[in-house]
Amino acid sequence: MKRKFKFEPSPFNAPGFWIKAGFHCHTLNSDGGMTPEATVKKYRQLGYHCLGITDHRQVTPIESFSDDTFIGINSIENGGTPDVIGVAATEPAAVNLPFIDRVDHLAEQGAFTIAAHPTYCAVTPDVYLSVPNLMAMEIYNAYCNEAYANGIATELWDMVLGQGKRIWGVAGDDAHLNRKKRYYSDTGKAWLAIWTESFSRNGILTALKTGSFYSTCGPTFQVILVEKSYIRISCSPVCEVRWRTFGNVGFVDYAPHNQWLVESQLPEWFEPNIFVRIELVDHDGKHAWSNPIFLQ
Ligand SMILES: [Zn+2]
Repeated sequence: MKRKFKFEPSPFNAPGFWIKAGFHCHTLNSDGGMTPEATVKKYRQLGYHCLGITDHRQVTPIESFSDDTFIGINSIENGGTPDVIGVAATEPAAVNLPFIDRVDHLAEQGAFTIAAHPTYCAVTPDVYLSVPNLMAMEIYNAYCNEAYANGIATELWDMVLGQGKRIWGVAGDDAHLNRKKRYYSDTGKAWLAIWTESFSRNGILTALKTGSFYSTCGPTFQVILVEKSYIRISCSPVCEVRWRTFGNVGFVDYAPHNQWLVESQLPEWFEPNIFVRIELVDHDGKHAWSNPIFLQ
């Protein structure tokens, strides 16, 4: 059967390798419980190759911690509602500025801009649709999910994507490591796997801005192969591979009872609308989320 649609070329078709990264945590520079140095050490022990510390209203410099196996990227959770994270930011925008101006201020510094915990911030789709320089949104925030039951924003993501905005999905810890807070919020709950050709600050920033990554709380994609109108994935053992587009079309590939899946593909009959994205669900109920793969 000849399909009438075609996907955009995928960043995963280029040469590269996977690295583990996180871009949402706090230190003693704001309301976190540990120093930047101890926080970096904790993340490195969890196998992270890249980290941005996102203290409230100030850039926490960690690029001096970079070496052959780790890259620190100076970052910030800017402040203001709704809030925005700047990865590779140099200075905050005034918190009383409108959202679009705060995002623009960070983007002008070359930062990768991520809308922080959208559900916690009670955001509706129009808020993100009107901000061209907003590059990504947190689709999963572990702290908000565990402490406030409002850390998931995948439905909002689909609505924004469905209106035509190109916006990547990011998962983050929002770790505070602070026993004085009502909820401790730990490291290593949700992270990015970035596909990059170059283990450098700029290589990672380019990968982020081109959507060359996926988000996860555990399951891993090994391959996301996009060719013309076909998508095939391979992954760690999972019980569901969920194929999603905008609207009433969709497909869940279930593993047989007491078994698992390690690969899946877009079904022949699946007619996507605007984009396709893929979610993995493992036997512990943990999710991974690919970025949207857009139709040409
Ligand atoms: Zn935060």
